[in-house]
Amino acid sequence: MHADPRIAKIYEQVVRRNAGEIEFHQAVKEVIDCLGPVLKKHPQYADQKVIERICEPERQIIFRVPWVDDRGEVQINRGFRVQFSSVLGPYKGGLRFHPSVYLGIIKFLGFEQIFKNAVTGMPIGGGKGGSDFDPKGRSDAEVMRFCQSFMTEMHRHLGEYTDVPAGDIGVGAREIGFLFGQYKRMTNRYESGVITGKSPQWGGALVRREATGYGCVFFVDEMLKARGKSVEGMKCVVSGSGNVAIYAIEKLEQLGAHVVACSDSNGVIHDPQGIRLDTVKRLKEVERRRIRDYTEAHREARYIEGGCIWDIPCQVALPCATENELDERAARTLLANGCIAVGEGANMPSTPGAVKLFVDSGIAYGPGKAANGGGVSTSALEMQQNASRDAWTFEFSEQRLHEIMRNIHRNCYETAEAYGSPGNYVIGANIAGFKRVAEAMLAFGVI
Ligand code: NDP
Repeated sequence: MHADPRIAKIYEQVVRRNAGEIEFHQAVKEVIDCLGPVLKKHPQYADQKVIERICEPERQIIFRVPWVDDRGEVQINRGFRVQFSSVLGPYKGGLRFHPSVYLGIIKFLGFEQIFKNAVTGMPIGGGKGGSDFDPKGRSDAEVMRFCQSFMTEMHRHLGEYTDVPAGDIGVGAREIGFLFGQYKRMTNRYESGVITGKSPQWGGALVRREATGYGCVFFVDEMLKARGKSVEGMKCVVSGSGNVAIYAIEKLEQLGAHVVACSDSNGVIHDPQGIRLDTVKRLKEVERRRIRDYTEAHREARYIEGGCIWDIPCQVALPCATENELDERAARTLLANGCIAVGEGANMPSTPGAVKLFVDSGIAYGPGKAANGGGVSTSALEMQQNASRDAWTFEFSEQRLHEIMRNIHRNCYETAEAYGSPGNYVIGANIAGFKRVAEAMLAFGVI
């Protein structure tokens, strides 16, 4: 139930105007449910219909992506780019290639991205895109042909001052290379700043690959430090075994934590002696295999097909796979097992029921909008390096990332306090992000 009837009405409109897009409804509800006290303090936001305007993307592009597979058969996928908000800078947000992609997923991710980007304090708007294409099991040549077809349509909507995509699920260094290559070919411009997550050999920033995972761990460490603790010595589980998960595990290990489990969409690896990251990297980054194969190299580890990673007792849990992967039952189990911190590397991985349990329990809970902002922040640093034709060292870039995560933490922490909910990072992140966007919208007039 919404305490403020104006907010309840806005939510009803969003559901009506975006029928069936349940993930988008969930993301909108999570943000606007926090905004009652903001409307009270700033009536001009309601007068100027700021929330209603934010909930409507500035532009939505849906297009056909035809390509030919290795057997010579024509395949047709659907491409999306939702350019949600450009009041703080060019649209910025990744591309997801996964069979589950449809408009509702892209809109939820784009909506989240607006506030996440705003909380970083950097000059970037919010957007997201992708396709229902599944790169799994496809040859490099098929992935290349798909990416080329995708970019043949997308290129006209992009630009370093307009819209700057990056990676997300199913879009890593290989896909970014094919996409950038086709953009360069279509436009006849070596416009490095049009896409981030590039290889450092041709315009990418060091630490971008590591940034989301590292940043999430820095954020969790800040939350724990605010309570007189740190991640050092903590027993951790990290879901997923993709880009975010791998580098979250790496940073946890560097900071002296003990990671005992990771997963993929088929099952869970539990290695009580500590996950051997070199094996995970080899399987996932080099050989593109399944996490079950981990046990070939480490007989003492256990593979649980279809298992729930949150059943494994831990003090720190980092959901780094996908949306709604941690439900109320899993949250109860984590809390019963003594979990004291949850940091979301993924976007919206906890269901609303799980979020409520975490917040009510008073554990350190860092929502994705705050905890996984390190990726997009380092993308903004990549744009900065591209604009000045410079390339920073790994050490300097990581130091900048660490500073940014501390600032995001402080911003959320202080905003939550100012609005009477100390320690509630959901309220802190949503209000801090919303206010920055809302102020810019008021300044620009009705556009
Ligand atoms: P990757 O494609 O590199 O890895 C995704 C991982 O999650 C894989 O292990 C994958 O397993 C697992 N996974 C995907 N879908 C599901 C599913 N439906 N059920 C269970 N497991 C699943 O993606 P990223 O690591 O880049 O992204 C992970 C999350 O982090 C996403 O929510 C993304 O939006 C978010 N994020 C990513 C950022 C980035 O910089 N990359 C920035 C901010 C947020 P499998 O191989 O079996 O599919």
